Amino acid sequence: MNATELTTVELDNLKESLLFQKASILNKSHEFKAEQSSVTAHGDEAEIASQDASNNISIHLHERDRVALYSIERALGKIAEGTYGQCESCGEIIGARRLQARPFTALCIECMEEQESHSNIYQ
Ligand SMILES: [Zn+2]
Repeated sequence: MNATELTTVELDNLKESLLFQKASILNKSHEFKAEQSSVTAHGDEAEIASQDASNNISIHLHERDRVALYSIERALGKIAEGTYGQCESCGEIIGARRLQARPFTALCIECMEEQESHSNIYQ
């Protein structure tokens, strides 16, 4: 595979886009929290219920958002370490174009396809 490495500018752009995505997921969960507490805040009983709810809501992100958030954190960690853009499975360079399409991917296309074909077997 003829993967091109990211330039510094491309890496900076991706980092910014990761930070933006992270912020928008966190904002979304914050809005959700506010919505929930305004719905349930009537009377003492509701008050207690809403407190329970807000305790739970911090872990109430949609599964997809939680996974995305985790991947974003990992990608940002790798940018900090200088290992961003390397496939976690085979260590090959993932390639600028693929990273730009999916900034928090951890696998190159080959490994991703391999993993998908395995998970299909066990489904
Ligand atoms: Zn790979």
